[in-house]
Amino acid sequence: MTAPVPAGGPTLPQQRRLLTEVPGPASRELFERRQRSVARGLSHVLPVFVTAAGGGVLVDADGNSLIDLGSGIAVTSVGNSAELVVSRVTEQVAQFTHTCFMVAPYEGYVEVCEQLNRLTPGEHEKKSALFNSGAEAVENAVKIARHATGREAVVVFDHAYHGRTNLTMAMTAKNMPYKQGFGPFAGEVYRVPMAYPFRWPGGPAACAAEALDVVTGLIHAQVGEENVAALVIEPIQGEGGFVVPPDGFLPGLAKFCRTNGIVFIADEIQSGLCRTGDWFAVDHEGVVPDLVTTAKGIAGGLPLAGVTGRAELMDAVHPGGLGGTYGGNPVACAAALGAIDTMQKQDLPAAARAIGDVMLPRLRKLAAQYPVIGDVRGRGAMVAVELVRPGTLEPDAAAASKIAKTCHAAGVIVLTCGTYGNVLRLLPPLVIGTELLDEGLSVLADAFGTL
Ligand SMILES: *Cc1c(COP(=O)(O)O)cnc(C)c1O
Repeated sequence: MTAPVPAGGPTLPQQRRLLTEVPGPASRELFERRQRSVARGLSHVLPVFVTAAGGGVLVDADGNSLIDLGSGIAVTSVGNSAELVVSRVTEQVAQFTHTCFMVAPYEGYVEVCEQLNRLTPGEHEKKSALFNSGAEAVENAVKIARHATGREAVVVFDHAYHGRTNLTMAMTAKNMPYKQGFGPFAGEVYRVPMAYPFRWPGGPAACAAEALDVVTGLIHAQVGEENVAALVIEPIQGEGGFVVPPDGFLPGLAKFCRTNGIVFIADEIQSGLCRTGDWFAVDHEGVVPDLVTTAKGIAGGLPLAGVTGRAELMDAVHPGGLGGTYGGNPVACAAALGAIDTMQKQDLPAAARAIGDVMLPRLRKLAAQYPVIGDVRGRGAMVAVELVRPGTLEPDAAAASKIAKTCHAAGVIVLTCGTYGNVLRLLPPLVIGTELLDEGLSVLADAFGTL
């Protein structure tokens, strides 16, 4: 019943090819097993069971080859099973798989930290620490900021997403599905409005200045600057709807933090490592955060995360105060070194910009044609359209879901996001071929025609 499995990686034919309906019979059979054995709390964008992936395609158990415009949520930026990731991982996995960095260290961990210290914004002295997941990196960034400042409060934003652990659930804005029934949540987390140009009451032109006023005013009145350990922000919001703050907002926040001794933490877990056309999204405006969290795109699909920042902050914590059994696992570090090498050798920031130059004009053309598209936004290969009832700001989640399903059935993986579930987001691998990207966008355009 199962189709023959091709070899994954960059040699996988870069094509959309449907042999069955999607999902096909082999995937449906596996899904039955999944239903009997895997908890209901895990859901799927598209329940096709993957047997191979590479470049910009996923191949499923029925032999269907799907165009991947999601990269496993901005993870496989260098492509699935990228050559340098596979070679480094293969070498490392045969050499040793684990010692625990806290028991006996190894060079790969140090080298990843050196790379992060070098690549993250700012010329100051930096240090890094490695973890397993984005949520864990955010937790540790907050731990470090609290320890270094002796303060407790953490300021986060509307529409923020920072993870699913207890502290990061508290920091995440959206209730369903992330928080519902999982409380009580960690304390000392304060939420302020996000500079969201499309939905800012005073309009996009006033958004940066007014939002800065509101945010700093609320912090002063409701928290007290001297109590704030850290302000944590996604420079372009991910799960919350690909909200791009207007120019001036991030530099204004950074300045406010500097003036008040608040640690400015950029959560670059989704936006970082070439995704937006720069190494980090904050580079766009030359903002230098005190701490940067990384994960997702850093290791070509293997679980790895980092906190990188000012040496004096990172070193504020006593020896033994940071760590974890698996954090900075040697195989994951080897993958990260292969991924970063790929990003440099193939100039993936430029590739991301080129992808944006293809996607944004096409989506703007669609927006002119279909009034259900209220906003087109994003940078580089992190781009989205927000769907609304025509002529209003009323979110149209049903339309987003319908479009996504139509794309899936036609063999193109697109993701949705947004506090209101009404945003279609595109996160292609940065190595995707132009023709494949074009074809994926045509399928998306056709889907709007069937609304
Ligand atoms: C995905 C994400 C996280 C959480 O990362 P996990 O690896 O899923 O724990 C945190 N912050 C941002 C901005 C993310 O996109």
